[in-house]
Amino acid sequence: MSGRLPDAWMSELRSRNSLEEVVSEYVPLKQKGRRFWGCCPFHNEKTASFSVDSEAQLYYCFGCHKGGTVINFVMEMERLEFMDAVRLLADRAHMELPELVSTPGEARLTRDERERMYDANREAARFFHSLLWTGEGAGALNYLYDRGLNDSDIRRFGLGASPGDWDGLLRHLKEQGFEPELLEKAGLANRRDGRWFDMFRGRVMFPIINAQGRVLGFGGRAMGDAQPKYLNTAETPIFNKRQGLYALNFAHKERAVGHLVLVEGYMDTVSLRKYGVQGVVATLGTALTEEQARLMKRYVPEVWISYDGDPPGQKAALRALDILEQQGLAAKVIDYPGGMDPDDFVKANGLAGFEALPKHDAASYRLLRAKDDLDMTTQDGVTQYALRACAILKKMKNPVEMENHLRRLVSETGYDREILLRQIGAAQPGATPPPRRTIRRAQEAAPTDTLVAEQALLSLLAARRIPRDMVKPGDFSLPVHVELAEWLMADKPAGTFIEDIEDEARRAQAVGALSYTPLPPEREDAVRLAEDCLQTIRASRADARTDEIVSEIAGASEAQKQALYQQLDAMLRTD
Ligand SMILES: [Zn+2]
Repeated sequence: MSGRLPDAWMSELRSRNSLEEVVSEYVPLKQKGRRFWGCCPFHNEKTASFSVDSEAQLYYCFGCHKGGTVINFVMEMERLEFMDAVRLLADRAHMELPELVSTPGEARLTRDERERMYDANREAARFFHSLLWTGEGAGALNYLYDRGLNDSDIRRFGLGASPGDWDGLLRHLKEQGFEPELLEKAGLANRRDGRWFDMFRGRVMFPIINAQGRVLGFGGRAMGDAQPKYLNTAETPIFNKRQGLYALNFAHKERAVGHLVLVEGYMDTVSLRKYGVQGVVATLGTALTEEQARLMKRYVPEVWISYDGDPPGQKAALRALDILEQQGLAAKVIDYPGGMDPDDFVKANGLAGFEALPKHDAASYRLLRAKDDLDMTTQDGVTQYALRACAILKKMKNPVEMENHLRRLVSETGYDREILLRQIGAAQPGATPPPRRTIRRAQEAAPTDTLVAEQALLSLLAARRIPRDMVKPGDFSLPVHVELAEWLMADKPAGTFIEDIEDEARRAQAVGALSYTPLPPEREDAVRLAEDCLQTIRASRADARTDEIVSEIAGASEAQKQALYQQLDAMLRTD
């Protein structure tokens, strides 16, 4: 999201959607004090470890450590982007969405206009589908039959045909009350020399439907030799081909599979799914983007790249691997034999064949590809391969996996293990230098009660029970605590801070920091609690520094020792 919603509007949205009420629509909750408890909707459990803090308006699961505000909750439960979660909550509270000041496109659109575009797309999808069963759609229907689909597959994916004339869809949608200007904005119609005409003519139509079941746009495949082979809806206020995925409406219900299968084409998706492969989604006519990788990460931790088995497909798979890994997804690659594409392969070998195919981990696949243009029967080829392989292994993070690949590389290339290791530039296991003493010390010296003290301070600050100038960012040790302290001291709402954190572990830390309980209701008691917390934090820091000085004295010269003793004295006196 590039524009921001006004803070005042956001806090009204939060207050009109009380977290315990929204959560109760999904999970039964029981109240105990200011907290509500229930079984976590994000992981399987029989005893309630999911808690809603009604005062701070934050949830936190003590089992899987997910946490956040009501917006995070809706994003997670409904698999929505931030803005869509906001829209859903605004609907729920009967609030009108304000205009975003700095988001181009979306800002100029009223809510009604977006809704009208979704309506027009839905009506267009119905029209294309119904045309398939008439004489006008016979060509498209035969094309789909030729590709091995039957009527029930065609219905399941809502496939259709666009009319061959210039304005069949336009005429139909105008009869339904849609203005050509709106259809142009939705990417369904075009205007040239003052004349309106359909965007899609004489094509097989694949509706692109999001997880909430709304038609965002279309992919249209030419029959015969018409160009371009695939025509997609252009960018519209509701369709961005870099951000969406085909068949997400199915994948939405298949999270339990644990991975997604990423393909390049609509037909590959339909075909794999027809044979029973679950979790299949496709990019929308472009190479995989970061946005799509992030979208997938919200559903599953792992993606299987299932591109064509020919050289262009293999190159694209390598690029997709990089993007998925950068976004922190585990990735595997299916290498279809004999240059086949997923559609050909599954038709010939069925689901069992697909399941039996090896799924290469990232490094194995990169090593496989590293041999592509080399003659491994020559010494030169083997040397080139060894160099490339070392560069690949150098980037591996898991030492056990690296060790396995290294052993294979030794036997494959005949090079000595030591030589390969030197090329990789990695030291032998165990030979990595220990982390610097001061860093190790700081971590050991941060006992849990210091962290609890920091949490209490942040909770007090967020609840405005203590004066803001009572603490300094420097009183906190965890980076996320420091940032949160700065945020709260600037009098900004805690919810916004939480919602801006994408990393779940970090968000859990921030939520934890705001969930300290019980907070004294009286200001005087709150201030006393804060003073105790500051005392704990400062004492523990002083202890850590004292330990450090003592150990420094052991290795110091006489002159240095004098200075260190003086520091120690000064610290003990102030303590
Ligand atoms: Zn949980």
